[in-house]
Amino acid sequence: MENKNIQNEVQRAGEVEAAQRICGFDEVVLGYTEKQAIKEAARCLQCKNPACISGCPVGIDIKKFLYQITQKDYSGAYFTVREKNNFPSICGRVCPAEYQCRNACVLTKKGSFYASANAINIHFLERFVGDYGAKNNLQADKGATALGAKHKVAVVGSGPAGICCAGELARKGIKVTVFESLHKTGGVLRYGIPPFRLPRDVLDFEIDDLKKIGVDFIPNFIVGNAKTLDELFAEGYSAIFLGLGAGIPSFLGIPGENFCNIYSANEFLTRVNLMSAYKFPEYQTPVNIGKHVLVVGGGNTAMDAARCALRLQKISGITPNTTVIYRRTEVEMPARRLEIEHAREEGIQFKFLVQPQEFKGDDKGFVTTMRALECCLGEPDASGRRRPVAIEGSDFQMDCDLAIIAVGLKANEILTKVTPQLKTDKYGDVVVNQETMETSIKGVFAGGDIVGGEGTVIEAMGMAKKASQAIIEHLLKQE
Ligand code: FAD
Repeated sequence: MENKNIQNEVQRAGEVEAAQRICGFDEVVLGYTEKQAIKEAARCLQCKNPACISGCPVGIDIKKFLYQITQKDYSGAYFTVREKNNFPSICGRVCPAEYQCRNACVLTKKGSFYASANAINIHFLERFVGDYGAKNNLQADKGATALGAKHKVAVVGSGPAGICCAGELARKGIKVTVFESLHKTGGVLRYGIPPFRLPRDVLDFEIDDLKKIGVDFIPNFIVGNAKTLDELFAEGYSAIFLGLGAGIPSFLGIPGENFCNIYSANEFLTRVNLMSAYKFPEYQTPVNIGKHVLVVGGGNTAMDAARCALRLQKISGITPNTTVIYRRTEVEMPARRLEIEHAREEGIQFKFLVQPQEFKGDDKGFVTTMRALECCLGEPDASGRRRPVAIEGSDFQMDCDLAIIAVGLKANEILTKVTPQLKTDKYGDVVVNQETMETSIKGVFAGGDIVGGEGTVIEAMGMAKKASQAIIEHLLKQE
């Protein structure tokens, strides 16, 4: 009886009040206290065959680390997680757990809208132990191999895939250099995901940790432009890992999309997050903000763009008025449920079943309105989600002096275009052997969003881990 009650007491992580958090970019979710973490971990049924583990793309032993929390063995819990996941403090903050481990938890009620509401909050517990590890400077075992410093490996891109691969190799004593085209490291973790979801000290800690174990980072360096893959091999790199991400935004392809004050979400977020536009003029990059902001899309990128825009309205003294436009309904939105919930609490408005048709502008070339059609849902498409069908004659207009387009990202082809031997698919993604993540070029491996398109942080890391194993085997063969 007592157990039953414990299982119903879902622990909600502390959060900053919506009215306060929209005044800045500080972290929204405060995480669990020790007491809450123990209570939440104690809700775990310790299933004989824990389904949650198969729901985790890297197979963390969730059952074990939750049990260790209940025993107050936080170091043990940290190392259990670290066996599979290099960045628990990051994943604990950004993983779409409701589609992954929590979806597989037996406490998830199938068929209801917020199906995982009763599932164990595995992500908050992962964050708890990750932050504990960072605070107490717990070092994961280096496990150095005989490969030592005989080989050096080049990693292209410093997003989750690149830094995960770099860490795996460096911990085996292999010399790794990470080349990054931007002036700062972290990929989407820095230029896409805002600090109110992933504070920069959490990211900096992980990157500094890699530097401490000998990983070199070379920013402002576009591989394919500054140097080709052949040139890197000629410089003595024994293997190369490509973690190029999916950095090129897609657009709607409708009339008027080139009016001023229509941004891709990528540009908008890069200005805000990477270039600190929210601190302009202290930082030099500005970003325009409007009175009527429309954000088109339903994924994490759309939620991040909308929540940044609303904060900028607030900071600039404009009455917050930001609306997310999505062509399906909330059920089909791919964004993390927590982000949708937070966006709504913060005052973001949602308009579902809307398909933009055209942007109109003034004689100076600035956007003023969006014309759209209402939709209904038809049969499911290839993604399994019901297809939006525009309703003829349902035209309507919305005021819009700033629009942000967040309808998807695709591969950046700077490197692949100058490397014809590197096989790509029709989307420009790099083709790999799924077992080894090796590309069509011997000694060149790839993982993350450049393989198979937009995914998640943990999926990118899972691929990078697999690739790092194959890289080690490749180096051993060269011995
Ligand atoms: P990226 O993170 O894109 O990193 C690639 C890096 O490679 C970049 O830094 C790029 O500058 C660099 N690069 C590219 N080409 C070159 C070159 N030729 N030379 C040198 N460097 C190069 N996932 C989640 O799990 N949870 C979330 O909450 C979430 N939110 C998101 C929010 C936004 C706004 C976006 C855009 C994505 C989000 N995602 C989220 C998806 C997730 O961030 C990606 O799946 C993940 O970052 C992919 O990692 P990656 O290392 O493959 O690529």
